[in-house]
Amino acid sequence: MKKLTKINLKGLEKKMNVICEDVQRNYVGGYAYYDQNGTKLGQVGNSTDIRICSADAYSTAFGSCGSGSASSGSQVIGTSLVTSSFLVKESFFQGMADQYADKYTNFQLDGMLGSEVGAQTVGCAGQSVTLSINNNCSYVYNEQDLISILKHENTHETQDCSLDTNTSEFNAYYQQVTSPNFNNCDKAFKDGILNSMAGYASQCNKNEYTSVADIKKMLGLNY
Ligand SMILES: [Zn+2]
Repeated sequence: MKKLTKINLKGLEKKMNVICEDVQRNYVGGYAYYDQNGTKLGQVGNSTDIRICSADAYSTAFGSCGSGSASSGSQVIGTSLVTSSFLVKESFFQGMADQYADKYTNFQLDGMLGSEVGAQTVGCAGQSVTLSINNNCSYVYNEQDLISILKHENTHETQDCSLDTNTSEFNAYYQQVTSPNFNNCDKAFKDGILNSMAGYASQCNKNEYTSVADIKKMLGLNY
């Protein structure tokens, strides 16, 4: 074992300072860092935009700035989830689903369904839930968006099988947008969800909820 002397410590301190200044210099906002199995590596800055990198790359970049918290800034490392390969997305979403959707008895990923990231529950309560993803991955902007989608599907899993589609969708959207995590979703994501909810409200005569503005007013959503 190398003897720790005052000079060694000084050298170490200097080295750490250099890395942290480097991190600071390359500050570009923030990211939520995950490995490609959906395991969170750390948070840099406030943004929840998802970047994928290896645990080694993360600790090399941020490990010296305090257990990966790196509140001083961030380097650009890893790959944006949006531009990641389909295989990486598939692995990431499966990992996230395993962590956040433990009630899904029959969870599966399907890259062929849908034109945006979303999920669907096939059948009634207790039936298969399918998360569909494609290479655009344009619908989910951050981890809260994904959790929000899984909450929606979780409602379908437990709701009455005899409900018509419009009512069951309205109810699932209602649970989704009144869940506390909805506040932390991306604005574009929230707009999309409220739009869909308004559409289903029109179909099942929930007259107080037939526009985005009405839903916001009814549920006290201020954003
Ligand atoms: Zn639904």
